[in-house]
Amino acid sequence: MTKPVPKREFDQYAIMAAEFSRDALLVTDREDRIVWLNRGFELLTGFTLNEMLGGKPGDFLRGDVTESATIAKIEDCITNRRPVDIEVQYRRKDGTPFWMESRITPVFDPQGNHTHFMSSSRDVTARRALEKSTKEATENEQLRQQERRLLSQVSEWLYSAKSLDELLLVIAKSLETLMPEAEGQLYIYSNSRDSLDLNIQWGGTDTAPKQIEADDCWALRRGRAYSFGMRPIEFPCAHSHAAEDDSPYFCVPITAHGQTNGLLHLDFGGFAPDRAQREKFKYFLDQRWELALLCAEQISLAIANVQLRQELLDQSVRDPLTNLWNRRWFLEAAHRQVNVARTNGANCSVISIDVDHFKKFNDHHGHDAGDLVLRALGAKMIEFFTENAAPCRLGGEEFIVLCTDMSQEQTHAMAEQFRKQVASLSVKYSGESLPKITVSAGVAVWPSDGAHVADLVKSADLALYKAKELGRNRVQSYTPED
Ligand code: GH3
Ligand code: MG
Ligand code: MG
Repeated sequence: MTKPVPKREFDQYAIMAAEFSRDALLVTDREDRIVWLNRGFELLTGFTLNEMLGGKPGDFLRGDVTESATIAKIEDCITNRRPVDIEVQYRRKDGTPFWMESRITPVFDPQGNHTHFMSSSRDVTARRALEKSTKEATENEQLRQQERRLLSQVSEWLYSAKSLDELLLVIAKSLETLMPEAEGQLYIYSNSRDSLDLNIQWGGTDTAPKQIEADDCWALRRGRAYSFGMRPIEFPCAHSHAAEDDSPYFCVPITAHGQTNGLLHLDFGGFAPDRAQREKFKYFLDQRWELALLCAEQISLAIANVQLRQELLDQSVRDPLTNLWNRRWFLEAAHRQVNVARTNGANCSVISIDVDHFKKFNDHHGHDAGDLVLRALGAKMIEFFTENAAPCRLGGEEFIVLCTDMSQEQTHAMAEQFRKQVASLSVKYSGESLPKITVSAGVAVWPSDGAHVADLVKSADLALYKAKELGRNRVQSYTPED
């Protein structure tokens, strides 16, 4: 057994340990007035024992003990006479802030009277900073994961859109959810490709231009995505808000198969106030930029997908020579229209049209010239027939027009007018004008001339034969004697 250390020696060692401890040690009386502190405390705070003696720690360190949990712990230490651990941010003598972790222990005399507080503290600024950045990194990672999950859901939705209209709604809803802080617009090139039309917008006021010129946009001019508000030298696009309020924005071209189809514009108007503040959002904007590029890629593919689907659908219901609707479309549309007429009593009628002596025409001028005439006739039909009269090519030189909301007289009159226009239609082949062609037409009206599509078409054909019989180049309405 080792001998117990004599009291005097023991006190000496205790003083030595307290004096040279790396921890900051502090003793205050029961009123919290400083009575002693060690070298470690001086080094940590920048204050000396002489300066602080008799004062309260809070008078010097200017701590910010506002966390209710910390205040409750200190009260607990006094009332329940037990040690507490707290972490408080203080300021050193030179004003620099630091985080101090302290264990405060109430000290009692042999009679049990509370006489002092003894605290042992250390600087935990580095640990707190690490914890904070780890927490931020974790939160950011969680956010990224959430975005990725959302993005994969979004692409699923984008791919299930069947039409451009449906797709535009999916795009707006998705981007509003993925980037709630941005207002956005999707522009698509007009058919003439000389400007871009606003197709849909979300998340903001209705102030975006309805139409923009490709020249007004750096992204479209340079053929790659453009961000404003992230670099020291940059110029705003003429079409953007930033031209007036300096707000950060992204312009991302929407492309497919090497062709630019549109533009995705995302405006972070909320971050406009000043450039210093923008620096703070740099990280945030960087993240958004990555996400915007991913979204634009998905949108590009989805638009190409919808366009392809539309083309295929068109091909299945269009006649390639004349670009008129084909037999398949006619039959579906006619059944639909007869059903509508049956429900709401609207008019429904058809005009059967056949080119006169077309066999002879082909024999004289060749099949190619015949094709050219059919094409010209198709173009004439598209130009002549209005919204409620849909011209279709059933095959060969036989056509049918599906008319809605037109009386028998109106249908007949329209057929007559068309016949006349065809008679004066001029078609050139190899620089020579081909002889004029004529058509005959038969008109039939639902339900008197046929309650079902097949009967209606048959009646129109019978009327057409009658027109041929009567000398061609004429319109004949169906009568039961036909
Ligand atoms: P009509 O109708 O006045 O009784 O005489 P038609 O000579 O026009 O007789 P019909 O309608 O029976 O003949 C159809 C002709 O149309 C046969 C063919 O030479 C021509 N034809 C049919 N389809 C095409 C086509 O796609 N291209 C060309 N060039 N000719 C076609
Ligand atoms: Mg014919
Ligand atoms: Mg024919």
